[in-house]
Amino acid sequence: MLSLSIQKRPDGFVEGQGVLVGTRRLISRGVSQLVSRVAYTHRPRRGYRILMYHAVGTRVKGDFRGIFSVTPDEFKQQMEYLSQHAFIKMTSLELGLMDPAPCRVSLTFDDGYRDILPVAEKILVPMGIPFVLFITKSYAQRTGPEYLSKDAIREISRLAQVTIGAHGATHKRLTECSDQELVTELKTSREFLEDVISKPVRIMAYPHGAVNERVVQAVVRAGYSIAVSTRAGINNSASHLMKLKRTEISGLDDLADFKMKIFGAWDWYGVKSWVCKT
Ligand SMILES: [Zn+2]
Repeated sequence: MLSLSIQKRPDGFVEGQGVLVGTRRLISRGVSQLVSRVAYTHRPRRGYRILMYHAVGTRVKGDFRGIFSVTPDEFKQQMEYLSQHAFIKMTSLELGLMDPAPCRVSLTFDDGYRDILPVAEKILVPMGIPFVLFITKSYAQRTGPEYLSKDAIREISRLAQVTIGAHGATHKRLTECSDQELVTELKTSREFLEDVISKPVRIMAYPHGAVNERVVQAVVRAGYSIAVSTRAGINNSASHLMKLKRTEISGLDDLADFKMKIFGAWDWYGVKSWVCKT
């Protein structure tokens, strides 16, 4: 049986965004929250919703507003909410689009924070919830405590409910890469992970959500079969497999915000997040 080592919450700051981005997002969020409360219908939208998390407990470097990290207690409450509602079916990323259940939800975690180890052991494994880790190669190769190491990635990948996906070799915006850099980012990130976990890696998340048609074509040529964006919204059978939408769960969300996001009251935000990628 796999034993996941519990890591103490790191005290230091780690990878993240700057003050200006945080402030801009905070102001934008206040306005967005008002709009979302008006849009809240108390009826869940049908379809396939992919939740996007970053850290659970780790203080993200430069994230002064706490946008990119939810606390373990908040996360547990959110998982309990999802598990207690029969109309929500938790599913894996590979099966989510095909599943006939009216409201499906998948979990994804970007950047490969190490705090997923205790979260998996204490919450996700006992509750039987599948989840995806999108790992950036250069982060996994750092010696600091914030990110999953190669050994930790290998260990957690042995869980039946985990899928490992790529998230770039260096977390560059792929839209700003030359054609050759693009090939290198997509190829080396996948090969690195496949070597670590000894399994095929066929899914990926665009670093910073940066994607255009040139990037999509390169991702397909690199052998990926599913790619997720940061554009807000819900997916259905007509969704583009290389541009699946996600719903970001922020450290600013309380449980009421979380419920509204699950029900789709924030999906209108997709138009904005497509233009103002973070
Ligand atoms: Zn990222």
